Amino acid sequence: MRAEIIAVGTELLIGQVVNTNATFLSEELVGIGYDIYYHSVVGDNSERLKELIGQASQRSELIVLCGGLGPTEDDLTRDVLADYLKEPMVLDPEGYDKIATYMTRSGREMTENNRRQALTIQGGQAIPNDTGLAVGTFYQAETTSYLVLPGPPRELKPMFYHHVIPLLKQQLPQTDQLYSRVLRFFGIGESQLVLELETLIHEQTNPTIAPYAGDTEVRLRLTVKATDETTANEMLDEMEEKIMSQVGDYFYGYGEENSLIKETVKALQAAKRTVASAESLTAGMFMSALGDVTGVSSVFNGGFVTYTNEMKRCLLKIDSALLAQHGAVSEACACAMAEQARLLTKSDYGVALTGVAGPDKSEGQPVGSVWIGLSSATSGTQAYHFQLQRDRQYIRQSAMMRAMDLLRRQVIAENHD
Ligand code: ATP
Repeated sequence: MRAEIIAVGTELLIGQVVNTNATFLSEELVGIGYDIYYHSVVGDNSERLKELIGQASQRSELIVLCGGLGPTEDDLTRDVLADYLKEPMVLDPEGYDKIATYMTRSGREMTENNRRQALTIQGGQAIPNDTGLAVGTFYQAETTSYLVLPGPPRELKPMFYHHVIPLLKQQLPQTDQLYSRVLRFFGIGESQLVLELETLIHEQTNPTIAPYAGDTEVRLRLTVKATDETTANEMLDEMEEKIMSQVGDYFYGYGEENSLIKETVKALQAAKRTVASAESLTAGMFMSALGDVTGVSSVFNGGFVTYTNEMKRCLLKIDSALLAQHGAVSEACACAMAEQARLLTKSDYGVALTGVAGPDKSEGQPVGSVWIGLSSATSGTQAYHFQLQRDRQYIRQSAMMRAMDLLRRQVIAENHD
């Protein structure tokens, strides 16, 4: 099955927005068995969009259009596709109700433009938007299917995972269904992971193993062709076991929408333990990352941003003598900060981050030198040193993630004891 992606939006053409939807959609479609031959970007212009849909329809079995579903006049993707297919647009009642409820709740009047967001194409299927208002559309013509998805990635991705994948899977030949599983790893680089799994990756055809590197982690997508889900799961389990025997130490969770932060929160919730942090280097990034996770309030108490030594003394009551003797970027300071964060907030764990983000050295220590303190009510306090590379933002982000991973491992280890 050949698929191609058409991203619609002048902001993409003029370089204001990076076309991350194309990357995401390609990776996902390849994962479920499509061949991707073309990516196109077109501005908000109905003639050029219609011409492009015409060309794409000659060469692909699936055309995914994204962007241009909003309420404004220049959001014309659905209209142009309906015109191309010579079908009228119809209102999706569920989508309309959702928009009407949203408008009433926010005290606004429903306008014709708002209503447009609930339009789909006659003969097609409306796709619910769980994180936004504009409905998507799936339309199957004789030789080609068309998918219309919203532009914002935070709407497009959940729609794709929850509604589009099941739809597309029905289209693929039943004898040869593709099933995939995503394994997530932290603390190992992509090249190292690939090296460790070299033989498995080269020898394996079903399941296949595809590595993807993120900013601070690596994912492996295992894809298997099988007649049914049970067989697929057995084959995936077998491959997972082989992978785990080699790199299981770095594995932390499953799934595209997962993250190390969510897994840390899950571990704390399962253990019914709470955490607080004291942050110098990261100035609150650790707390902010936790705050992004729904339901974190049961395990996250709060914390301290103590960038200067003065704040470390004032807020955390760190001894001046300790700071004078060891400096702020030190094992002693990281331990003291973590312990104080835990004690002052009456939490089960305290996490501390202190280090040199750069670009200049500090206290005679090189850029990227990071101490992470971890204090546990049951197993005491320790600090870990990392020498991180690259730029200031990466050093801070990577330090935050390492702190998260240390905490997650500690919680799991203590919970298992
Ligand atoms: P809205 O209802 O928000 O108007 P829409 O479906 O009409 O959504 P667009 O107006 O085309 O989508 O784009 C809205 C925003 O979504 C863009 O400003 C951009 O931030 C993001 N976006 C759109 N297309 C892409 C893309 N291909 N890759 C990444 N981001 C995109």
